Amino acid sequence: MAGGAAKTARPDMIVIGGGLIGLSTAVAAARAGMAVTLLEARTCGRHASSASAGGVRSLNRHPSEIAMARAALELWRRAPELFGDHCGYAESSQVRVAEDEAALDGLKARLALSTGLGWNHEKLIERDELYRRVPALAGHCLGALVVEDDGFADPLRAVHAFRRTARSLGVTILENTPVATIERDGAAVAIGTADGTAYRAATAVNCAGAWGAGLAAAVGEPVDVRPVALQMTVTEPVPAFVKPVIGTQGRKLSLKQSEIGTVVIGGGFEGRADLATGDSDLDFEGVTLNLANAVRLFPVLATARVVRTWCGIEGIARDDLPVLGPSATMPGLIHAFGFSGHGFALCPLIGEVVRDLAGGRNHAFDLGPFAPDRFAST
Ligand SMILES: Cc1cc2nc3c(=O)[nH]c(=O)nc-3n(C[C@H](O)[C@H](O)[C@H](O)COP(=O)(O)OP(=O)(O)OC[C@H]3O[C@@H](n4cnc5c(N)ncnc54)[C@H](O)[C@@H]3O)c2cc1C
Repeated sequence: MAGGAAKTARPDMIVIGGGLIGLSTAVAAARAGMAVTLLEARTCGRHASSASAGGVRSLNRHPSEIAMARAALELWRRAPELFGDHCGYAESSQVRVAEDEAALDGLKARLALSTGLGWNHEKLIERDELYRRVPALAGHCLGALVVEDDGFADPLRAVHAFRRTARSLGVTILENTPVATIERDGAAVAIGTADGTAYRAATAVNCAGAWGAGLAAAVGEPVDVRPVALQMTVTEPVPAFVKPVIGTQGRKLSLKQSEIGTVVIGGGFEGRADLATGDSDLDFEGVTLNLANAVRLFPVLATARVVRTWCGIEGIARDDLPVLGPSATMPGLIHAFGFSGHGFALCPLIGEVVRDLAGGRNHAFDLGPFAPDRFAST
């Protein structure tokens, strides 16, 4: 591919994929003085990043992700300074509700795990306190695990702010430019696009979301990341009934009410994803189950009308952890994809992590659990 190239360009870093992870990477690298070219197959934010529910959650994260999730919160608070816009970020408690004894035991075990690791951001609240905070809950709930200083942001607003910031820092953003090949070329990584253009850089970063696994496989690095179309629903505005972002232990549900009264409902129900076309289809049985879960928890929603359902394609790893770190097969290539349904919360931080990896610096985080080659032996 590189041989038939129409022209070449020579940035310091090429970012593949213009979702929030790729845009965050481009921003952090450009701010550190690197010349960055970002190649996006469609338009920036076209897939998981704009479909996202926008939850910024450190509650109930995998132990390997807690440090990054807590650090990312600080960057969301600084969004106006870092991305020129508040990105709709608002601090809000996240509440994970237990609907029965087994769920409550699960939350207690979770709290023991996180406090045993030295974290103190999660706390268990009992039934009375839960109903004081969320009086609209159905009567059967027993308690909840809470983080007070989590939050949420506006995904589309974040995409636009990250993109604007990247451009203002001199990043070249090329949309409708799918990457077709990644090859090693002397001291550089050579990236070939579908139109026959070749780009060379010391560093290339695979931020291709659900498509990242295909690019990794093409450089001899198979990962266990599958494409999933995660489904969301939003209702018409209803009178205010819930302030925190709500999740449940043992049932698929996440829910929050916006300032204008609409209720955004998700929780991991899957539609159908087609990687070849980039299209996705809803599974209406899943939508129905998702809404039933919401009404079971909040009977007030029984008469709310749905105004829109959608899904977005996300890469989900077998262990629900991102693929984040240097390629084991190709020097100069860094992977940052497969954020497994919870990468929005981390995105402002991931750019900084990748920037440091590209500079050969050790970052403050243990990236071992995210190593691209972790699937090789199993
Ligand atoms: C419905 C839904 C709800 C979610 N809710 C939350 C939430 O509440 N909280 C949370 O933390 N996370 C949430 N997530 C997850 C979060 O949105 C994602 O983890 C995050 O947006 C991933 O960003 P990304 O940049 O890796 O992927 P994407 O946004 O998918 O970006 C990848 C980009 O790569 C491009 N690309 C692919 N192949 C190529 C190629 N060959 N060449 C060039 N470009 C290519 C694609 O076009 C795409 O734009 C949700 C996800 C979905 C789908």
